[in-house]
Amino acid sequence: MELSLNTATVRKQWNLAQMIDGCARHGIRGLSPWRDQVAALGLQKTRALIKEHGLTVTGLCRGGFFAEKNWKDDNLRAIEEAHVLGAPALILVVGGMPPGSKDLSSCRQRIQDCIAEILPEARKAGVPLAIEPLHPMQVTRAAVNTLEQALDMCDALEPGGAQGTPGVGVAVDVYHVWWDPKLAGQIARGRGRILGYHICDWLPATRDLFNDRGMMGDGVIDLPSIRKWVEAAGYSGFQEVEIFSELDWWRRDPDEVLRTCKERLPKC
Ligand code: ZN
Repeated sequence: MELSLNTATVRKQWNLAQMIDGCARHGIRGLSPWRDQVAALGLQKTRALIKEHGLTVTGLCRGGFFAEKNWKDDNLRAIEEAHVLGAPALILVVGGMPPGSKDLSSCRQRIQDCIAEILPEARKAGVPLAIEPLHPMQVTRAAVNTLEQALDMCDALEPGGAQGTPGVGVAVDVYHVWWDPKLAGQIARGRGRILGYHICDWLPATRDLFNDRGMMGDGVIDLPSIRKWVEAAGYSGFQEVEIFSELDWWRRDPDEVLRTCKERLPKC
């Protein structure tokens, strides 16, 4: 599988134009940008630069956050942006409970209802929606926490199953799902629905709930096994490096970060 750079990985060091240039220099052919960076550079300019450098967009981060007041307008805009960039999926971080609420089950139902509401627009734009389950420690950011839960939602939203390109699917991020005893079986179940594969590593002594992801090979995730399961389930896209690392990788020379990502690929 080829490498893609999720731009969160070097977001403290580089702007998007520098990231696009960096990928091209390092021979990394995939790129998954974040919407704030696209907005800063300009949508059309981003599209042109990506094309000029011969990169493939592997996803757009992110839509979702369905507990926000303006969730619908924002998600429709995100779908349009993903369409313009030719992204194979809009990644959804689905959001948690609204302020003051402790009702997790109705929050989860609401997430499904909101996705159902934007799904026709996503289909029309040819932009599949990728539900990314987040580790349970991040339930306040995303109340979908296992691959099983995400696939159940896909089945409820598209009861006929995923034929051809699905309208809704999942993004498998190893950081969020590696611990799950049902992971192998659920990845196999996800055939036709896997729209993205995100890699990094889990450091045993995590110092920060959000921003202490490890570089591939520095932690305890069995990346080769998960990659094999994902490939066996028919996924043939990129493996996208996504590292949030306040204390380490965001402090390093970004060229060193990209070089290290490439060097570690045989361990993935
Ligand atoms: Zn991810």
